[in-house]
Amino acid sequence: MQKQAQLIVKYQETDKKLKLIEDELNGSEDAKKFFTARKFLQTVKEKLAELDQKAKVLTDNYNALLSEAKSLELSAKSYEDKIALCETEEELNALKRKVDDLKAKSSSIEQKIDSVSKEMNDLYKEYADLGRKNVEMKAVYSEYGPKVQELKTSKDKEMAEVKAELDKLSKEINAELMAKYQSRRKDKKFPIVFGLDFSKNMNYCPRCATQLFAGFVSELKQGEIKECESCHMLIYGYDSKEK
Ligand SMILES: [Zn+2]
Repeated sequence: MQKQAQLIVKYQETDKKLKLIEDELNGSEDAKKFFTARKFLQTVKEKLAELDQKAKVLTDNYNALLSEAKSLELSAKSYEDKIALCETEEELNALKRKVDDLKAKSSSIEQKIDSVSKEMNDLYKEYADLGRKNVEMKAVYSEYGPKVQELKTSKDKEMAEVKAELDKLSKEINAELMAKYQSRRKDKKFPIVFGLDFSKNMNYCPRCATQLFAGFVSELKQGEIKECESCHMLIYGYDSKEK
């Protein structure tokens, strides 16, 4: 195995210790509750702003419908006055048709007003739910925050030791390779580095089983550490029969 491959494999072995501690810290029930609460509290303002925006649109809509209803009512009234003064049947029928038309419009506006009122009621419920959840999540945050912190503190020393070890190891590793590794690590991927055993003569990514091109494999044979085009994990080659 090439030197850089050995180094990055060694780095990953050490990094696994750090990963296990991180998983323990993040995976406990206490931590999950705490992170859920923290995420809620970080985003509650945005949710509130969204509701405010919805409320504004609905209120504007509601007011516009009310004023339309009002003007229809006035028109209806003016036709009624005219009907009282009608002299011919023809005139009377024409006016009645207009009144019917207004009634239809008016009833459609009423329906719209009902539907907007219903949406407004739903929105008030959403506000109330959000407020309740906010209180609940604040309580979870204060209850579990100290527990999570306590667990974290109990691991501080161990973590610092592993990190120091990783820091030392990283100094010998090619910077570009290290950066690729760290970027996968940030995406919470693990393990990141995989070995392809040439003696088995299989040209598949050891992680995702995507077929590797001949050129890709021959570069691995020349000692390069390459990135799988499909899963983006890092692959090095070795021969288990060659010692
Ligand atoms: Zn792959």
